[in-house]
Amino acid sequence: MMARIFFACFATVVFAVSAAFAAETTLGADAQLQWMVRRPGPLAVNIAGKREGFELDAAASDAPKRIYRRPQNREQFVAVTVTPRGNGIDVGYETSPGLAIDSVRVLEDAMLITADEKGYILVPCREGLLIPADSGVAFTRGFGTYDYEGCHMAMIGLVRNGEATLVTWDDPYIAAEIKSVLPDPAKGINQQTLTTSIIMRKSAKSIRITSLGKGDWLTIAKAYREIAKEKGLLVTWDQKLKENPHRAAFFGASNYKLWSCLSRRMNPESTKELSSRVNWTFDEVGQIAEHLKNDLKLDDVHFIIGGWIRRGYDNQHPDILPAAPECGGNEGLAAAAKRVRACGYIFDLHDNYQDMYKDSPSWDEQYLQKTPDGKPARGGAWAGGTAWLTCSQKALELAKRPQNLEAVKKLTDADCYFIDTTYAAGLQECFDPKHPLTKIDDLKWKSALSDYARSVFGMFGSECGREWAIPHADYFEGLTGVSGTYYHSLKPAEMGATVVPLFEMVYRDCIAMYGKYGYDINRAGAYVIHHVSIGRTLNYHSVPSHIYWKNIPPSSSPGFYVQSRDGWTAGMHPMDCFVKNTHEILSPLNKITAQMQMSGYEFLTADRLVRRSVFGEGAAAVETIVNGRREDFVARTAAAVEVVLPSDGFVVSSLTYVAFCAKSFNGLKYDTASLFTIRSLDGKPIAESARVRVFHGFGDPRVKIGNTEHRVEKETILQK
Ligand SMILES: [Zn+2]
Repeated sequence: MMARIFFACFATVVFAVSAAFAAETTLGADAQLQWMVRRPGPLAVNIAGKREGFELDAAASDAPKRIYRRPQNREQFVAVTVTPRGNGIDVGYETSPGLAIDSVRVLEDAMLITADEKGYILVPCREGLLIPADSGVAFTRGFGTYDYEGCHMAMIGLVRNGEATLVTWDDPYIAAEIKSVLPDPAKGINQQTLTTSIIMRKSAKSIRITSLGKGDWLTIAKAYREIAKEKGLLVTWDQKLKENPHRAAFFGASNYKLWSCLSRRMNPESTKELSSRVNWTFDEVGQIAEHLKNDLKLDDVHFIIGGWIRRGYDNQHPDILPAAPECGGNEGLAAAAKRVRACGYIFDLHDNYQDMYKDSPSWDEQYLQKTPDGKPARGGAWAGGTAWLTCSQKALELAKRPQNLEAVKKLTDADCYFIDTTYAAGLQECFDPKHPLTKIDDLKWKSALSDYARSVFGMFGSECGREWAIPHADYFEGLTGVSGTYYHSLKPAEMGATVVPLFEMVYRDCIAMYGKYGYDINRAGAYVIHHVSIGRTLNYHSVPSHIYWKNIPPSSSPGFYVQSRDGWTAGMHPMDCFVKNTHEILSPLNKITAQMQMSGYEFLTADRLVRRSVFGEGAAAVETIVNGRREDFVARTAAAVEVVLPSDGFVVSSLTYVAFCAKSFNGLKYDTASLFTIRSLDGKPIAESARVRVFHGFGDPRVKIGNTEHRVEKETILQK
């Protein structure tokens, strides 16, 4: 079976690699390699902020090398090269000596995919985006390497007529731009088309395009996983647990975050306090952990607090200790840490080394990142006023001061540390002559900051997550979703796109991942089943303040997973109902699949709203089916059990763990959705297990396991 790379262009081809050229590659003589890197027209080169069109010098060019000359000075040129390599080609460029350019579009509107070809592009933005060529939506959008909601892996995937192509690169100064054009008969465009442009800046000089033959997103993820391994990015839990076995505490752990203990708001100049509020004292922090452990019976929790630092979060960084006196000071924080850790939870503290405020005692412009004109780089407008960005090299210096991480470790013995924005913000540049940074330097210093925090605490995580951080971290907060949905500012609908968990398929067994920010638990059905489909636990970041469960609000109409009727959480606080129900579903699912690869992912309906995932292989494989439609979906599990899934319902099936929220399961019909989880406690298949735990979340208390019907109000252990 010979791979084919076959892309057409809008009109006349100016750069077609000949059949003779194809024969030189391993594609073989029968492969029809017709690679068009350019539309007719000049090569777009940006010089001193201005776009110029370099013109092809046909006489000086040959098949693997095309010379484009600068019209105003024909001595100056950019040479675009195509080099065969394995099952594909490298596309790169070089400039004539002395020609300084800002950027070049080495590919422009290339790699054309049409609606008729059932084609799509995969962009690794958070979990991943599937952008189909038949969406009926026109757009142009750029994805910078490692940028906020850019390409979070250095690749994109393309599928056309069932044939998969992988585009990869090494340099963060590359951006991919995807363009969708709707039919326009006047321009000779008969159907919707997707094209890709590749823009290279600074050190970026080439990309690799590899033909993978017949395949889809799994083929592309699998091929990229091999590349990630070669690059040293694929550091799996096996390796991470060898360094520190305690990291296994992340398997099955829900991310429970008190955001934030002290909320204090300053004016933009950081000179005047506008408001100050204690949401939780450190004593209340301890009480909440004990509530989760003793009342909700949660065993695996990744417990994080924000706003513990001296003036509240997003205030006066990097001066963090003593802990906020309003909440109980150092003594209170140390006592809270002890209580959280006594529950067996991962105790984690949220800190920041990218932002600095004008009222910080350590304020000094020497630490700040500088813009090209030498001015301090301004960050966001946060609670503490206007933030100014530190240079990542200086951030490490600040974190290493004895009064920072080391002092926190000594005070709390925290298991883990979180340094905000480290992975979320796109790679930065600094123009301070004393500590200049390229994006590549920034990556190096941010990795060093992660490694340092990990050496002090043993475990480390940061915001969002990027593949470059995989070897330096234990968890990402924000990769799986934001604010109860998939993205922050990116709107998949504007690209006619669907989420596909590409990042999961490549790096699942390397890192714990969560969503970030708070959300409305009463409108979280889609968010919950998204996490079922990727086998990840949830982030709980909208915890009501103080000892919230002592004041139960009057019940209105609870959201789908906030229900408690006739179940375990009947009569409890809505937050607790939601946390308990979803933790019971997701924690065991994540625990048994954390070290498995995602081996299958498919859409069971044309609208892509019903999804089936498979983790692992053979007898140990775990399957999930989720229904994102408004109407019911009748699913059949791999074990041939018929399940009627309501909107936002799901089923998990495997030999040792089964869970569902369904209107019918194993021949037993329910009037309304019923939530159950069924778990073997001795590792044997449920059918043979001597101890099977059954948890009932809500709805009809009857459940049929094998041929036997049971009645379980809250939970029980079935013994043999
Ligand atoms: Zn710097």
